[in-house]
Amino acid sequence: MIFIVNLLSILANSQKVAIIGCGIGGATLAQLIPTATVYESYYQCGGRINHVLIPGLNAVEFGATFFIQENQYVKKQIDKKNLEFYKRDLGKLGVIKNKQLVLQKTDSDVINIVKMLYNYGLSPKRIKDITEDVLKNFQEIYSFLERGLYYKNLNEFLQIIKLNDIKMNFTEYLNENGIDQNFQEEFIDAILLAIYNQKDVNTIAGLISMVAAFNDAYSIKGGNRQIIDEENINVIHSKVDIIHRLQNGKYRIFNDEYDYVVVASLVNLDISFDNIREMNNFQYAKYQSTYVYVVAGKISQKYIGVNPEDLNTIIILDDVKVTELKQECVKCFQGWNIYKVQGREELQLDQIFETHQIVHKKVWDAAYPLLSQSLLNTEFEYEKNFFYLNSIESLASCMELMMIQAKNIANIIKERHNQLIHEDL
Ligand SMILES: Cc1cc2nc3c(=O)[nH]c(=O)nc-3n(C[C@H](O)[C@H](O)[C@H](O)COP(=O)(O)OP(=O)(O)OC[C@H]3O[C@@H](n4cnc5c(N)ncnc54)[C@H](O)[C@@H]3O)c2cc1C
Repeated sequence: MIFIVNLLSILANSQKVAIIGCGIGGATLAQLIPTATVYESYYQCGGRINHVLIPGLNAVEFGATFFIQENQYVKKQIDKKNLEFYKRDLGKLGVIKNKQLVLQKTDSDVINIVKMLYNYGLSPKRIKDITEDVLKNFQEIYSFLERGLYYKNLNEFLQIIKLNDIKMNFTEYLNENGIDQNFQEEFIDAILLAIYNQKDVNTIAGLISMVAAFNDAYSIKGGNRQIIDEENINVIHSKVDIIHRLQNGKYRIFNDEYDYVVVASLVNLDISFDNIREMNNFQYAKYQSTYVYVVAGKISQKYIGVNPEDLNTIIILDDVKVTELKQECVKCFQGWNIYKVQGREELQLDQIFETHQIVHKKVWDAAYPLLSQSLLNTEFEYEKNFFYLNSIESLASCMELMMIQAKNIANIIKERHNQLIHEDL
């Protein structure tokens, strides 16, 4: 019996798994398959979870900022690592169009509700009810994956969370559900801009954004990147330029051969695939770039059209470049406020601020896929044992979804692994 157990573990270890990318997707997979080798081009893990620490302030996140309590895998990891998290408050939020305030959230919930009812009738309630159903159905994915099951493509995933039969364009979906036009343009567009830096999205991304908007949002104290267990990951800090599929069905990366490869990063033009069907098509996928600045200074009233002192979070609906200005702290940097500013391209900060100093800047060339894209590529496995984890991002992009996808791929590999071992025996 001991012999068989030993043999099983020897055979198990002989199956080599490579993961490209040590963001939350790759890192979660590596945690589930500890023998895997992870290739990461950056000097640290985290990918699009990245922050800067400013003395006296909570970490300012450049990328993934919020999660909700119902994100079970994010929460599990936080509990496991004993991390502290805190509720995020957007404070007084103003949505600006044509230099005018079209929507304003105050500190009083009662006033907010009355204003919403007055402006948009029952549309906010209707969306809230829809998001509650979405969130409830979404929880199905956890019991599915925890039973060791897996889905093979996006459609199967959508079936489990009961979102497979809805139209892919969010605007059509909203119109079909009788959502007020102004509510769409002033509230929903503002949320989509703040979350995805784009307004035209598929229904899944739209609904996930609405779930985020109607639930309390949290961040990890000291930075979300701590969710990644870097010390326990077998990571090689090298950029993979090319992955070859060999005649024997294995894959070669640098000089090593692997039985399984999982690409856990958005594929761009800087990586190529030799003899791997379809993958080269992804290299031409369109992505939304996002520029994030941490700026100390004074916002120009002339630029936004209203008094910036009255607002903590400002979302600009009709600016082609700037989407959001979020106050991170008051008078904490040489007497100035600090703002996180998000834009679609390089910003002329001297037009937006009366006075300013850039404290930090981060450019995401590929922050998210363009979420209006039709979901042409719905499979995850492009050759036998070759997976593209981030293909799920054409639906929506968030930490939890990447962790779910990692668990799903781990379930597939684990099942094959066992099958392989039993056949060999
Ligand atoms: C501005 C912004 C705000 C966001 N806000 C939120 C939010 O509030 N909440 C939320 O849940 N999500 C948010 N997201 C989305 C979230 O960050 C992503 O969905 C998630 O972090 C993606 O994780 P990943 O592991 O799939 O990919 P990534 O984090 O992109 O990781 C991929 C890794 O692969 C590495 N890599 C790439 N190419 C190679 C190569 N050739 N060789 C080796 N390594 C390579 C990269 O360096 C990177 O570390 C936000 C994203 C951005 C950009």
